[in-house]
Amino acid sequence: MLIRKLSQPSSFGVYLLALLMLMINMEGCTPKMQPTSPPPATHSPPTKIEQQAPVEKVNAKNIILLIGDGMGLAQITGGMYLNKNNTALEKFPVVGLHKSHSSDNLITDSASGATAFSIGEKSFNGAIGVAPDGKPKETILEEAEKRGLATGMLATSSIVHATPAAFIAHVPDRRQYEDIALYFLRTPIDIFIGGGRSYFTRREDGRDLYQELQGKGYVIADYLGQSIAQVDISTDLNFAYFTADKEPLPVLSGRDYFVPATHKILDYLSHRGDNGFFLMIEGSQIDWAGHDNKVSYVLNEMSDFSTAISACLDFAEKDGNTLILITADHETGGMAIEDGESDGKNLQLDFSSTKHTAGVVPVFAKGPGEELFKGIYENYMIGRKLFHLLDETYQFTSGD
Ligand SMILES: [Zn+2]
Repeated sequence: MLIRKLSQPSSFGVYLLALLMLMINMEGCTPKMQPTSPPPATHSPPTKIEQQAPVEKVNAKNIILLIGDGMGLAQITGGMYLNKNNTALEKFPVVGLHKSHSSDNLITDSASGATAFSIGEKSFNGAIGVAPDGKPKETILEEAEKRGLATGMLATSSIVHATPAAFIAHVPDRRQYEDIALYFLRTPIDIFIGGGRSYFTRREDGRDLYQELQGKGYVIADYLGQSIAQVDISTDLNFAYFTADKEPLPVLSGRDYFVPATHKILDYLSHRGDNGFFLMIEGSQIDWAGHDNKVSYVLNEMSDFSTAISACLDFAEKDGNTLILITADHETGGMAIEDGESDGKNLQLDFSSTKHTAGVVPVFAKGPGEELFKGIYENYMIGRKLFHLLDETYQFTSGD
């Protein structure tokens, strides 16, 4: 069909020829990517293989994964216009989209969303670090720890809440907060900062996880003492800081630790050994604001999250060997911008839901390996590509 058209010159034929040439040209310009391999026979995503065609070395020394829980395009856009038509995300050269559905639902929850990132496989809603069959699967944080990287997590929720939990724990139900807390004793994560003190200190089983963590060499501080900005953290020891007994306040109600904690955790991790680090930072309450359908709550949480992103960008710029990846598990609230001005005045935002929605979710990448994250892909590909960045011999494929 194409050949016949081209043999009879017409404006349409010329157009097709030009298009064809453009496509060939684009093919030539495509950077060398991972060769596509046949889908693996099993469901195990990060498959260790003995041999693989040589690929360009893309490994970053440090990986920072920032998750804006519930952050869809309208949340980003609202935050951008409110910030005088600027967002730190404009500094990211690579943008992609991921499909957020879980293994059992078009609408994912935060547990299965974060689990797809952490284990490289979709699982059922509520799942924390387990595959659809309920079996534990190693997380990217555990793998980083095993490989001698320093590891850290920071959240504006409790540290046992779904998103951070999915990087360190393995339970079938996200509400198993006290069980999730026990996993902080099993994987020697270097530093973690978030709420949820009571799940460590006032437990049904009577255990005192403060004491047990201290027994494992942790220094622990919390909101009852000095603020995180004031605490002097020794980089020789593991460190935990609890920002609330259960869930931290919204930023509008006075939460002020997210940005100072981001600086502290970056400073700490960059001084922990020579092997680099893996850090997960969650802006947890963008999601809660969406559930509440409260515009000012959404925008203030977005602003706090953006400041944390800027702190990471500053760090990465100086460091020169850090990959920053920013995404969300899903959008919350079906938010839309309906009116306003581009300088942020009179912004009118509305919601179509009090729940999560299923739209594709943006991914922003900057740093060594950034090109892996362009395109449209399933959410678990983020996890698989992160495993690949830790070890090039981890093959990633897009098959289930
Ligand atoms: Zn939610």
